[in-house]
Amino acid sequence: MSRSLPTVLALLVAVPALGADLEEAARRLIDHQRREGRAYDHLTELCDDIGHRLSGSPAAEEAVRWGAETFRSFGLDARLHRIEVPKWVRGRPEVVRLTAPRDVVLHALALGGSIATSANGLEAPVLVVETFEELRRRADEAEGRIVLFNKRMGPDGNGGTHGYGDVVPQRVAGAIEAAKVGAVGSMIRSVGTADYRLPHTGMMRYQDGVPRIPHVAIAAEDADLIERLVARGKPVRVSMRLDCRSLGEVPSANVIGELRGRERPDEVVVIAAHLDSWDVGQGAHDDGTGVVACIEALRALKELGLVPRRTIRAILYMNEENGLAGGTAYAEDFAHELERHVAAIEMDIGAFGVQGFGVSAGEGGVETVRGLARPLAAIGADRITEGGGGADIGPMRAHGVPQLGLRSDATRYFDYHHTEADTLDKVDPVELGKCTAALAYLAYALADADEPLPRLDG
Ligand SMILES: [Zn+2]
Repeated sequence: MSRSLPTVLALLVAVPALGADLEEAARRLIDHQRREGRAYDHLTELCDDIGHRLSGSPAAEEAVRWGAETFRSFGLDARLHRIEVPKWVRGRPEVVRLTAPRDVVLHALALGGSIATSANGLEAPVLVVETFEELRRRADEAEGRIVLFNKRMGPDGNGGTHGYGDVVPQRVAGAIEAAKVGAVGSMIRSVGTADYRLPHTGMMRYQDGVPRIPHVAIAAEDADLIERLVARGKPVRVSMRLDCRSLGEVPSANVIGELRGRERPDEVVVIAAHLDSWDVGQGAHDDGTGVVACIEALRALKELGLVPRRTIRAILYMNEENGLAGGTAYAEDFAHELERHVAAIEMDIGAFGVQGFGVSAGEGGVETVRGLARPLAAIGADRITEGGGGADIGPMRAHGVPQLGLRSDATRYFDYHHTEADTLDKVDPVELGKCTAALAYLAYALADADEPLPRLDG
């Protein structure tokens, strides 16, 4: 295929040559992770020695100590950024049952933040709807009932996230909308993609002025059962007994590790993940993989002597899952430094097949990252797409800090997300190593660049 001269020139302009030193840095980081990467060892400690670690729990505090000690054990600087986090406890395991037309145990998890029922529990007939719109249309049927929101996640699409954004509102605000029309309890079909009768927990909210009602997630199979029974005209009733409660705010911390830049140490590239998890499983993919990738990225860069011009700061945030206290407090307490934060990269999509990065930056930023990421083609991590970031680094967006999010193949992420099955065995050490190398390399490339990425409009 021949190209016209203008086309060739345009290509040359669009893809500037990459310095041999960057190609070399990428090659060394990829090779280092393949041969002597330790991300999976760190993850084994986090998952098997500490386990799940909901904000405010003793395990979360242990994870904070572990994070700081792990950075220091590699000769890296580490400090704690003290914050306050909400403390919610599940208490005795929830009991949710179908009581009519026959008695069946439903596989359920209270959603994080839900109130308890009375000690005797509550029992009511069920109204099945799919969406808030349907609930409003059928509002006169909701009084005194338990509402089941039975909205399915879509097929893999929508950026590989199965339309997560379409189903998550029922989890977050289902109790509010159900209570507004007189319901006494609410349930959702679990936000997830696997059919192994697993409930998926997650964050929910109440609203001032609207009665607070218990809110639980049930397994997809149990939601289907209820829907089928209702469709056949059976009188369906459910009972629930929950012991969970909120215990106010308690002290906790973000953990900050640092590799100090050699020329402009006060300019910072952030790499980020969240240290907390839900109180089920081991928080392995969500977000243990991100945490250990951040730790291992700094260890690898230091060990290989790849010290960039600017500082790379790894932030292990606390409370991403149920409040975002860590991300919010960081942007507030470090506001005076954010002008010199040149980029932030978050990893919070599990460590499946690494694909690349989503990028939100000022004009030309996506193209710049695309150029920098070319050496990551060796591990399939060079796909750079418009739009990226993450929940924890989100509050820095208003300060203009360019936002990047590592992308991995999310086809199976929501099989495990927020369930008892998010455990170490689901993580492939080779894929985790590739994610780590991609994160380390891009942070290095951005921190060593002549010019920082164009900023967002603050
Ligand atoms: Zn997460």
